[in-house]
Amino acid sequence: MIIRADLHIHGRYSMATSKNMTPELLSSQGSLKGLHLVATGDAFHQGWLSMIEEATEEVNDGIFSVREDKKLHNEFLQEELPEGFSKNPETKLILTSEVEDSKRVHHLIIIPSLDAAYQMRKKLKGSLDSDGRPRVRMSGAEIQELALENGCIMGPSHAFTPWTSIYKEYDSIHDCYDETPDFVELGLSADTEMADRIEELQDLPFLTNSDAHSPWPHRLGREFNEINLKNLSFSALAQALHDKTITANYGFDPRLGKYHHTACTKCYQLYHPDEAIKMNMKCPCGGTIKKGVDYRVEELATWDEPHHPSHRPPYIHIMPLAEIISLTYSKGVTTKFVQKIWQELVLKFGDEISVLIDAPMDELIELDPELSRRIRAFRDKTLQIKVGGGGRYGELVFNDDSSEQNSPDSTLDSFL
Ligand SMILES: [Zn+2]
Ligand SMILES: [Zn+2]
Ligand SMILES: [Zn+2]
Repeated sequence: MIIRADLHIHGRYSMATSKNMTPELLSSQGSLKGLHLVATGDAFHQGWLSMIEEATEEVNDGIFSVREDKKLHNEFLQEELPEGFSKNPETKLILTSEVEDSKRVHHLIIIPSLDAAYQMRKKLKGSLDSDGRPRVRMSGAEIQELALENGCIMGPSHAFTPWTSIYKEYDSIHDCYDETPDFVELGLSADTEMADRIEELQDLPFLTNSDAHSPWPHRLGREFNEINLKNLSFSALAQALHDKTITANYGFDPRLGKYHHTACTKCYQLYHPDEAIKMNMKCPCGGTIKKGVDYRVEELATWDEPHHPSHRPPYIHIMPLAEIISLTYSKGVTTKFVQKIWQELVLKFGDEISVLIDAPMDELIELDPELSRRIRAFRDKTLQIKVGGGGRYGELVFNDDSSEQNSPDSTLDSFL
């Protein structure tokens, strides 16, 4: 079976997380998004664990479903869907947590059972209940050893970000871990084109996850994985990562990130990393040139061009539907105007991902010609991007109508 999974989010006890976040809402919003499986996040936090235990039941090995009497119903979805579109999936949950190690490197752990989560809680050194994402006094290798002892799946989170990633600290993932990790999470600032320039990552599967701090579909599933699984269970997921049967990665175009390219922080002129070094990181305008994520990839790269191994699935650039609507009409993502259009489309095609990826273009054009041009630009890969850097976000340019765009700063506030 092919499933859509978002395997990294945060619970309500993590810093800067929406207080609306509950397992029930996560499941019902995941269903509107079109996800079959969503991470619980923060499964080493007692408060969040208790909420998970109260709201869900284990329905298959490591897979949790919201209890019948707790299920939230998306009322506007009660009508019949058009032929060819099945009812949106019931989103199941899987236990996960992100952990920060003693060097401030973040690791993502996928946990086989509640019992394993409680066993890990006993052994992780640090205050586990002060923040949803615990900061522990252990090295990456020590955390990995403990995770493996408890049957977990583990790899580095958002591997290329400048503040809390494995590559900000180490030149090789093997300098951090004793065992090869089960996956590498790319994060919002990198994609397969970048990561496949690094030889040591060739044999590893890549995960693309949202790292969402709120359950709403403009955050949840903004990056996700399409995975071929034998069945929906923890052990089948572990097997799929081992067999590298991820069939697609969906995520942001990293060129939109505000520190993606090496650039001047004053005039935003972009520089090739080599050129920036030659210029001593000083721009002729008097400003400072700030290293981008591309700089780190350039340092780590084995090759100038990506070498995609045969197991590597396509990486498909997407953006949350509400953000595309917001950019089309220059209205805020959470305004009634944008939410109404979003609801109408989800009602018609069953879930958000179906609108973005599967909905017939002629039907979309009939419903909303302006919006459909933008959705088509993502599908056809004809989207033009003015790249970001030096602290300025990249911008989407839709062919000839760039003058209509508002600044994406307001909507892309979650990069890096
Ligand atoms: Zn993190
Ligand atoms: Zn996170
Ligand atoms: Zn400058």
